Amino acid sequence: MSDAVRKLIERLAPDPVCDDCIADRLELADRQDAGIAANELAGTSQFERRRDACVLCGITKPTTRRSI
Ligand SMILES: [Zn+2]
Repeated sequence: MSDAVRKLIERLAPDPVCDDCIADRLELADRQDAGIAANELAGTSQFERRRDACVLCGITKPTTRRSI
């Protein structure tokens, strides 16, 4: 599951995407899963999590993006 989240974020890189849009795009039943997976990714050096305008919905909220 986090693999699918990672691929989606990589596809959108370097733009940030929010948890809701991740859940939407991947059709996750529980959008909390998107947040959990995104948080796991943000624990690695290649991804970062911060409050920003999501590239898909344009709303400023916690987002994840690939940083390198
Ligand atoms: Zn969004």
